Amino acid sequence: MAATSTPTKTDKPQPPQPVLPKLKHWRFEIDIEHIGWLTIDNQSGPVNTLGSEAITELEKLVARFEDLAASDELVGVVLLSGKDSGFIAGADISEFDNMVDAPVLTAALNRTHALFERIERLAVPFVSGIHGFCLGGGLELALATHYRIAVNDDKTRLGFPEVNLGIFPGFGGTGRSIEVAGPVPAMQLMLTGRPVRAGAARGMGLVDKLVSHRDQLRWEGRKAVLAKKHAQRAGFMKRVMAMGPLRGYVANQMRQQAAKKANKLHYPAPYGLIDLFERHGDDPVAMRRGEIAGFVPLMATETATNLRRLFFLTEGLKKQGVRGADKPEFRRVHVIGAGVMGGDIAAWCAYRGMAVTLQDLDMERVQPALDRAKGLFKKRLKKKQAVNAALSRLEADVEGKGVARADVIIEAVVENLDIKRKIFSEVEVKAKPTAVLASNTSSIELERIAEGLKDPSRLIGLHFFNPVAQLPLVEVIRSNLNDDKAVAIGCSFATAISKSSVVVKSAPGFLVNRVLMPYMLGAVNRLEQGEKPEVLDAAAVAFGMPMGPIELMDVVGLDIGRNVATELGHEVPEDSRFAKLLAEGHLGRKTGRGFYRWNKGKAQKSGSPDRANLHELGRDLVKPLVDACEVCVAEGVVASADLADVGVILGTGFAPFLGGPLTARKHGKA
Ligand code: NAD
Repeated sequence: MAATSTPTKTDKPQPPQPVLPKLKHWRFEIDIEHIGWLTIDNQSGPVNTLGSEAITELEKLVARFEDLAASDELVGVVLLSGKDSGFIAGADISEFDNMVDAPVLTAALNRTHALFERIERLAVPFVSGIHGFCLGGGLELALATHYRIAVNDDKTRLGFPEVNLGIFPGFGGTGRSIEVAGPVPAMQLMLTGRPVRAGAARGMGLVDKLVSHRDQLRWEGRKAVLAKKHAQRAGFMKRVMAMGPLRGYVANQMRQQAAKKANKLHYPAPYGLIDLFERHGDDPVAMRRGEIAGFVPLMATETATNLRRLFFLTEGLKKQGVRGADKPEFRRVHVIGAGVMGGDIAAWCAYRGMAVTLQDLDMERVQPALDRAKGLFKKRLKKKQAVNAALSRLEADVEGKGVARADVIIEAVVENLDIKRKIFSEVEVKAKPTAVLASNTSSIELERIAEGLKDPSRLIGLHFFNPVAQLPLVEVIRSNLNDDKAVAIGCSFATAISKSSVVVKSAPGFLVNRVLMPYMLGAVNRLEQGEKPEVLDAAAVAFGMPMGPIELMDVVGLDIGRNVATELGHEVPEDSRFAKLLAEGHLGRKTGRGFYRWNKGKAQKSGSPDRANLHELGRDLVKPLVDACEVCVAEGVVASADLADVGVILGTGFAPFLGGPLTARKHGKA
């Protein structure tokens, strides 16, 4: 991989190549114009990361650049990625667990800071050419170079996802992003963790030039080196937000915004970053130097440890599908039932790039789903061309012509065994022999739906959650008739539509409803005994749940809640408030009244509860959920405690910083 003095096969005379040590992660060569071409191409996999080995090699490379620049043998460096997947996805997270020791981490960060400062001080221009993902440490390296060119396409994304791992940028990115983008946009990027497209990054000042194709990066990189291009600092009007007393005000605004999303006790990283900004936000160099002291303690927190584990568990879910030569391709999806679920499943699949046919009894029942789909496409895809393309991928199909062509057929009709059986017996005859047959049933045993089929082993469950576009989990339901392959194909499909899948045994309530119901009913029971809904909900949120159990019951719908409860063997007592609301047709958010009154999609709560032991109450409230989770693992509803943790976090939003219900219990937190 190292550059050598071996002549290249081109006709042009090549300058002598620098002698370099053997490199695993980088390539470097100098062309006839004395421009150095540095390529990052990690040996270990399809995605570039900045692990310690890559950093050590870069140190050696930069030392050579300094020598070559001093002897006029190098006029500049262009950094590109050798991977199709993108530039650099970040630091190597798999090394983080060995970096929690404060002196070790401090030394490693100081070393990287020193390296990036040398890049910044290099006497010749250093240009980054970015395509695809440029995240975390990758963006920090790009920001240490003098000029950034990015491909303006759908795949390019720049950002700082560190807060999702319980930390903030630690390779100098805090100060450098503020320097070019200005304090408010840079802090927003770091505090939300959401990456931006190349166009937006250009608008912010993170990127200096856009090109339309990856092939243009070399040419534009060359031009930038020869013209000695250098990024501009953010203008005064942007920097003023971090000056003098204004900075304290801005920091407080940021704290208020952060508090709406994350409790400081649960997620300290955003608050640590805001403190750093309050101290040094007007001085990018001081900010990035102060970064290390704030960063180091975060890495060892339970929050960061649990979020890292969650990251790897979620990544692991993507590997459950069929791999290698047998990897299935999903181009066409047919959905039967255009109601709440079927309509949204069809829209989601079309949004994710599949050709979808949507069937219901008549066009009047399909049309509302198409209208909703348009709303989703507009919201997510924004550009007219992309919205139109997605719309053209979604086709109403009352006659069910799409069945014969589909790779995946998902049934989401009313919860009625006879109707579902009849549908599958007709579908089986028309469908391709390789097509996946799946039901979205939430309560009927798959084995019973499959009974009439010639090959009952084909039918799996794909249990989506409402609202489909927002909830990341799909439970892939395995009946005792399925083989491993049918289930693995189901997981592959979930990954293909960018959902996370957890394989769950066909048992009442599967995993998510099975653990949620005792938690919600336990809270309803306390309410029946006189506890206020506001207190119960605030307690669950204080514990770390995204929404309280009473509000959640209203959102799910009291009718659906009652059905799931009954299916799981829980009774709704006749004289209860729950039964009374049901009898009066007050079904929750959808009817404007349930346990709460609802206005414009918001529960109308009376004040914030004044109770000292909210967290303790929250812990008591989630106890039935954690108990049920233990039972699910013991009964083999899910294959492991890890899968139960990740499934319940993705399916219910259970406190990610605690690592999931079973990890929380193991650590005495639930
Ligand atoms: P829904 O009542 O909103 O929609 C069902 C649709 O099926 C209706 O449009 C109906 O016209 C159509 N239909 C009925 N018979 C049909 C037939 N023979 N051919 C074609 N279409 C037919 O119901 P939903 O809430 O979307 O639920 C659908 C399925 O998803 C059910 O099995 C349910 O248990 C499951 N589910 C629902 C939720 C939820 O929150 N609503 C969540 C997960 C799973």
